[in-house]
Amino acid sequence: MSNVDFNEVDKFAALASRWWDKNSEFKPLHDINPLRLNYIKEKCGGSLKGKKILDVGCGGGILAESLAKEGAIVTGIDMAEAGLEVAKLHLLESGLSVDYQKIPVEEFAEQHAGKFDIVTCLEMLEHVPDPASIIRACAVLAKSGGQLFFSTLNRNAKSYLFAIVGAEYILKLLPQGTHDWDKFIQPSEMDEWARRTDLTLKNMIGMTYNPFTKAYKLEDDVSVNYLCFYQK
Ligand code: SAH
Repeated sequence: MSNVDFNEVDKFAALASRWWDKNSEFKPLHDINPLRLNYIKEKCGGSLKGKKILDVGCGGGILAESLAKEGAIVTGIDMAEAGLEVAKLHLLESGLSVDYQKIPVEEFAEQHAGKFDIVTCLEMLEHVPDPASIIRACAVLAKSGGQLFFSTLNRNAKSYLFAIVGAEYILKLLPQGTHDWDKFIQPSEMDEWARRTDLTLKNMIGMTYNPFTKAYKLEDDVSVNYLCFYQK
């Protein structure tokens, strides 16, 4: 349990009832979901049908459900009980099936090593005390040859301006205090932690937001939000 910051988890638990409200604090995650889903699908050969996928830090299940809708067999884990309850209730509405569990990923890895074709851990690493330990556990959970996806926020002057000042204070896309700039992760740090395990970087892509068109896009610029694709 040592790698869980309950101040962070409680922030998400407090907002849990709004996970599926597309105009809530979770709007950005709803907006980027089709982009990241397509990216994952494309990098995994075009189809997720029948793939065993683990979504780490699944929250209310925005990504997990979309993966299940593609025909994947999905397990979602998180440490915020309230978010998981909302995720489970939402399955009644969507008619999809996802196995949601409250368990730290390190503990889950002790029980399910090498069991997953794909492991996703999106927008979560910047909320934990020891992100390297999460990456290590994800690597253990993937099958040899499996695909892993991590996304987070880069740490530099521009990301302070865009992700904190811009997103939280000016555009108010996210509640103030959602992110702590000090915990953002540079791509080189992410890659160093991944290379300490048996993961190889296959691709890295940026996720950008245009405040005028209000559109998100995947492109080469990894200076603020970015997504990494690794293979075990
Ligand atoms: N991955 C989801 C949700 C991102 S929000 C998505 O991209 O749509 C961040 C999530 O990480 C929250 O649900 C929060 O409860 C969870 N989280 C934070 N610290 C965690 C930890 N140590 N273990 C598991 N989940 C954690």
